[in-house]
Amino acid sequence: MSWTDGDAYLDEVAPGIYAYVQPHGGWMVNNCGVITDGSGDTVLVDTTSTERRNRALLAEIAGVGANDPRIAVNTHHHPDHTYGNGFLPASTTIIGHHGCREGVLRAGLAATRELLADYGDLSVRPPDVTFADALTLHLDEFPVELIAMGPAHSTNDVGVWLPEQRVMFAGDLAFSGGHPIFMEGSMLGFRAALDRMRALDPVALVPGHGPACRGEEVARVLDELTAYVDFVAALARDSHAAGLTPLEAAQKSQASGDSPYRDWPEGERVVCNLHRAYVELTDDEPARPLSIPQLWPEMVALAGGPIETHA
Ligand SMILES: [Zn+2]
Repeated sequence: MSWTDGDAYLDEVAPGIYAYVQPHGGWMVNNCGVITDGSGDTVLVDTTSTERRNRALLAEIAGVGANDPRIAVNTHHHPDHTYGNGFLPASTTIIGHHGCREGVLRAGLAATRELLADYGDLSVRPPDVTFADALTLHLDEFPVELIAMGPAHSTNDVGVWLPEQRVMFAGDLAFSGGHPIFMEGSMLGFRAALDRMRALDPVALVPGHGPACRGEEVARVLDELTAYVDFVAALARDSHAAGLTPLEAAQKSQASGDSPYRDWPEGERVVCNLHRAYVELTDDEPARPLSIPQLWPEMVALAGGPIETHA
């Protein structure tokens, strides 16, 4: 199947609850969520990376009567999920973890200089309302629970959980059909977040990248991600014991062709995940920050050339 950026679509995972899926879900190409209730309240989950993509998102959700969201939630601070905040109406309240606000302000528009694309006229707009652990939005007809689950993919991950519909908007706590990345957060935290989501027993799960999952597919995707973490952890233990750097370990694994994930896109992320795994195996301070820009050259080395973004 080939995707073009005209193919973003709304996928109704429960009545009035939509995943906004942007194929094919790689770097800077994320999913959003749209939550509507009968009273006209709308909650948007995440924005996206460029002016063109955000205008397309707002046009698409206008079609389901959700063009003027009362609330937008940022699942974490990464630019693909937050660069569109500035295109939301001034009346929209944006909510995120305390660390999300800090992250948006700290990062600014730096990613536009690393991942080149036509971003349009971006402005930095962090969450207005922040929280540490959990917050419940009481829409007229049902609640929406914001649950802090990081550090995991990032330092400030929030899952958006609809307990009545049993729908989980996972942000980048879940990926479907590509390599996850947990370098900036915690490998063990990422695994724990998968357990927390599994324990909620969602009937639908909207990952931050890749198609929405329903029914038995939810457990399959969560189990696959847990197995992925265990694969990286084992590779890190063996490679660290053998004295290899994370890049050498990733290159050796790639050359062997043995990885069960060799056909997943964004394979360059393995080196990032190994860096985090090494920190957690060896470091007294497992919260030591690692950043994507810092490791970009190693990802380029592993990919064997420039890394594509379709933003
Ligand atoms: Zn992210």
